[in-house]
Amino acid sequence: MSLTKKQRQQVFEKYGEKCAYCGCELKKGWHADHIEPVERDMRTNKMWRPERDVIENINPSCPSCNIHKHSLTLEQFREQIAYHIEAMNKRSTQYKFLKKFGLIKETGEKVVFYFEKVENDQ
Ligand SMILES: [Zn+2]
Repeated sequence: MSLTKKQRQQVFEKYGEKCAYCGCELKKGWHADHIEPVERDMRTNKMWRPERDVIENINPSCPSCNIHKHSLTLEQFREQIAYHIEAMNKRSTQYKFLKKFGLIKETGEKVVFYFEKVENDQ
């Protein structure tokens, strides 16, 4: 859906002008993310889940979170973030080196999105 100016402002303010996922301050160029993904046929541009294209299904997102989430569901996005640690341990000697010096500490905690923290505090 293309949001009206008023709806876009509503989405922007949904979590105090912060990214719903990482909680960073939203800056110019923030993205409106479909919480439950809406995919399009690349060829025809036809939407596969048009019922999801409603304002209730839209979260404010920083470009980085939106690009990483892409067409993943929330749970897939959560798993993907956690998987980055595994990937870093396999592939990055710098990451492993920094860990040895205690500069990076893995918590093993479940990824909790900012909007979940906000909703749990209420
Ligand atoms: Zn973010």
